[in-house]
Amino acid sequence: MPISPDQATEIAELRANTQPTLRATVPGMEAHLYTAHEVLDHGFIRVIDYMGDDSAICQAARVSYGRGTKSVQNDEGLIRYLMRHWHSTPFEMCEIKLHVKLPVFVARQWIRHRTANVNEYSARYSILDREFYIPAPEDLAAQSVVNNQGRGEALSGEEADRVLRYLKDDSTRAYDHYEEMISQDDQQGLARELARMNLPANIYTQWYWKVDLHNLFHFLRLRADSHAQYEIRVYADAICEVVKDWVPAAYGAFEDYRLGGAQLSGKALDCVRRMLAGEKVTQETSGMSKGEWREFEHLF
Ligand SMILES: Cc1cc2nc3c(=O)[nH]c(=O)nc-3n(C[C@H](O)[C@H](O)[C@H](O)COP(=O)(O)OP(=O)(O)OC[C@H]3O[C@@H](n4cnc5c(N)ncnc54)[C@H](O)[C@@H]3O)c2cc1C
Repeated sequence: MPISPDQATEIAELRANTQPTLRATVPGMEAHLYTAHEVLDHGFIRVIDYMGDDSAICQAARVSYGRGTKSVQNDEGLIRYLMRHWHSTPFEMCEIKLHVKLPVFVARQWIRHRTANVNEYSARYSILDREFYIPAPEDLAAQSVVNNQGRGEALSGEEADRVLRYLKDDSTRAYDHYEEMISQDDQQGLARELARMNLPANIYTQWYWKVDLHNLFHFLRLRADSHAQYEIRVYADAICEVVKDWVPAAYGAFEDYRLGGAQLSGKALDCVRRMLAGEKVTQETSGMSKGEWREFEHLF
């Protein structure tokens, strides 16, 4: 269960406790504050705090005294200009703090993004919950035959049943032993910091993750991408939905230039020019490697 009834009550209490402020607030973000958005079978993301809005980006870019806003249209144009020209520091003026509950193997990929502040639930101090990520049958995919780093069709039949059974049984058995080892009933009880080494990588952990908007966009560009593993991509997708409501103009520019756009090498650009001039360009005449050509063709 992503959120227990007690936690739901706590969140409702937090949301009922409103306070006036002089700081910039965003109605869409206020609606998200504290609320858990479920991801995978037991995970979630929830916004704990945020700073800044679209205007804050323009305000910083113009280093202005007031809100820095000209008109909404003007601001959107400036934000698109900043994004287009990789002028990143104004985006760093906005920050977001998320509470994330995620499987440990997803956390290992996530933590590679070093430009964030993290505080993780302590499994030395606390006891981890009996919660494991078990993929839905349609996500239980076979190894891809074309991409070593990917997956293919969903497993089926007896193999799917057996894999699912292994995942569930192994998780349950490991957790039973974990509980037994830390128990202090009629025994000393192994230290929690040691007992946890027996737990599988699909157990859930939690952390607070604070990041500025520039580095968040970098994270989202890599992890909301089709090349990212499904289990981290669904978190990135959930964060995208929140960011849309927080900084709609900045997100719009990010979606257009980064998620929807593509970067072309000098050779690729040359091919586009030659194609526009009516030349039939092939991989052999492109100057690109087979891999580059395949990716180039995929763009269109
Ligand atoms: C599809 C995919 C597959 C991957 N496969 C693998 C894999 O097989 N093995 C593996 O180990 N990793 C893998 N990664 C992780 C990847 O290599 C990066 O570590 C991860 O995406 C974090 O990116 P980053 O370093 O740009 O992000 P951040 O750590 O957030 O850094 C953001 C930017 O800040 C700068 N920066 C941050 N720290 C430093 C520093 N110490 N020195 C210089 N510049 C710095 C860099 O410009 C960097 O791009 C994969 C990632 C993806 C998206």
